[in-house]
Amino acid sequence: MKKVSDKEIFAGTGASMKKISEFAMKNSLTGLEFAHGIPGSLGGAIVMNAGAYDGEIKNVLRA
Ligand SMILES: Cc1cc2nc3c(=O)[nH]c(=O)nc-3n(C[C@H](O)[C@H](O)[C@H](O)COP(=O)(O)OP(=O)(O)OC[C@H]3O[C@@H](n4cnc5c(N)ncnc54)[C@H](O)[C@@H]3O)c2cc1C
Repeated sequence: MKKVSDKEIFAGTGASMKKISEFAMKNSLTGLEFAHGIPGSLGGAIVMNAGAYDGEIKNVLRA
């Protein structure tokens, strides 16, 4: 997982949503606050378009 710009993180699909959202917070990136409580991996979240609190993974996914 790495920060690739002031707005983007690169993460593999096996990374947990919890770890990705914590990485975003530590790097002062906004947008993934909704994802911290969602269990499972990024890949699983993409397949089902996981979301909470008016946030959805499709809205913060570039590729
Ligand atoms: C207690 C609890 C609370 C939850 N709360 C929420 C919530 O608030 N909001 C919400 O949206 N969901 C919620 N969920 C559902 C949760 O989002 C899904 O269970 C989770 O996203 C599934 O991810 P997983 O990594 O466990 O995937 P799996 O269950 O292992 O797989 C799910 C699907 O994704 C596919 N898949 C997984 N990884 C990949 C990959 N890398 N490439 C291709 N396909 C892949 C699998 O083949 C399968 O079809 C909750 C679930 C639990 C148990």
